[in-house]
Order: sequence, then C-alpha cells, then structure tokens
Amino acid sequence: MLMIQQICCPNCGSKAERHYIYESQITRTQCPSCDYLMISCTRTGRVIEAYAPGIHAKM
Ligand SMILES: [Zn+2]
Repeated sequence: MLMIQQICCPNCGSKAERHYIYESQITRTQCPSCDYLMISCTRTGRVIEAYAPGIHAKM
C-alpha cells in the first residue's frame, strides 16, 4: 500500500512528493526540481538515506 502526499520541498520550496510505503515502513520524499531525496523509517524516525543538492546531509 502506498500513500502519496504533496508537500513543499524543504530544500528548494517547490512542489515535491512524499510517499508512505507501509510494507517497508519507510517514507520517501523526493523533489523533481532539485533532486532532493530523503528516505526515513516511519517506525523509528531514523533517516535511512538523504540527499540534498548543495547541502551535505547530516546523518
Ligand atoms: Zn526541491
């Protein structure tokens, strides 16, 4: 099951999408405008993978 939510990109402010993937308990946020990407665990809140152009993601 997958739920998609429209959000504002935290990196560039344009329209981005947040995907909730229930089976694997992860949230995937991606922005087509600036290639921002963040994958986090919904259960623990831990960031699994993060990529923001121009910013070094702190893990
Ligand atoms: Zn963006």
